Amino acid sequence: MTRSAAIIGGGIGGLATANYLHQHGWTVDVFERADALPTTGTALGMWPGALTALDAIGHGDAVRSIGSRQQHGEFQRPDGSVIANITTSEGTSVLISRPPLLATLASGLPDGVVKFSTTIESVADLGGYDVIVGADGVNSRVRTAVVGSRVDPIYVGVSALVGRAPGTTDTVAETWGEGKIFGVTPRDGDLTNWFAAYREDPDVEPPAEPLEFLREYFGHWHAEVTDTLDRIDATSIIHYRIKRMPKLRSYFSGNTVLVGDAAHAMPPNLGRGACETLIDSIALGRALDEHGVEKGLRRYDSERRKATQKLVTGATLMNHVAMSTRFTGARDVALRIATRFA
Ligand SMILES: Cc1cc2nc3c(=O)[nH]c(=O)nc-3n(C[C@H](O)[C@H](O)[C@H](O)COP(=O)(O)OP(=O)(O)OC[C@H]3O[C@@H](n4cnc5c(N)ncnc54)[C@H](O)[C@@H]3O)c2cc1C
Repeated sequence: MTRSAAIIGGGIGGLATANYLHQHGWTVDVFERADALPTTGTALGMWPGALTALDAIGHGDAVRSIGSRQQHGEFQRPDGSVIANITTSEGTSVLISRPPLLATLASGLPDGVVKFSTTIESVADLGGYDVIVGADGVNSRVRTAVVGSRVDPIYVGVSALVGRAPGTTDTVAETWGEGKIFGVTPRDGDLTNWFAAYREDPDVEPPAEPLEFLREYFGHWHAEVTDTLDRIDATSIIHYRIKRMPKLRSYFSGNTVLVGDAAHAMPPNLGRGACETLIDSIALGRALDEHGVEKGLRRYDSERRKATQKLVTGATLMNHVAMSTRFTGARDVALRIATRFA
């Protein structure tokens, strides 16, 4: 008998889960509120665990060939002096921006599986499926059905502007100031990915003129930062408020289950949110396919909940340290020591 899944959200978690289940003979419908796949988005570091997850659905090699390898990292102070360097050959990650990652995942699904321009207001609207997967991101609505009441993510007091600039770089470089960070990373295409993190009051509107805002905040930093600022493609800028999920007691209820940011959104400081989302998707698909819905959801929850909640704690701690406004000298010494063990 064919089994069926409704997946809410056609982002990384939704498309990866759909790939696994489709490849294992399930009937899958993915409901996505956007009218198409995105054309802009930040570069995401895919660590080895995420590449293994992508291999399990046949997309690892495509991501390796589109993305850029990340081998060298550098931390600097605003005056350009170096805090620490990291060079890795083992366990190298691959940086790929969101649009080609999602396009690769979508290419594994038959036409019509992803139903664009379809916002799901409530899982009660979805009858007749064996399982309902909430892959609807940090502000998930499906979460209410799993928890039984509304649980909102917590804003960590930090916002980020991200985007791209023409020209390439082979280094992940982060400049850490007092309560603000400017970073550049390689990405696919002949482009550089950049991001700027800064403390922001939740009541303050995002900057109306982000380029001017960036120049005001970072325009007096060292030349590599100001060179990037001069090249920024203003049409690519996206503003995020960085949030983390409080611990949920379960990632499922009945036949409804959460993957990715809906379950465990975390600050991006460990570069693990999308990676863990991919690992969730394969773990969930495998558990459902091999053990059926009831036992499969229990297995998925025990395999993934505590592991991902520990990472939320670690990423939140890292965010506090990186964004500190005091004792930055001690912070930089700690960072130098930590990178020796990376
Ligand atoms: C600045 C920044 C940098 C990051 N860098 C990294 C990194 O380097 N490495 C890494 O691993 N992670 C990184 N992350 C984290 C990563 O982006 C997320 O963890 C990942 O996108 C989560 O995927 P998801 O599928 O759970 O959610 P999303 O990507 O948010 O997808 C959710 C989808 O659901 C859709 N949706 C929402 N509600 C509904 C609804 N009601 N009905 C229908 N559709 C709906 C949305 O339109 C969206 O397409 C970063 C995040 C940020 C903000």
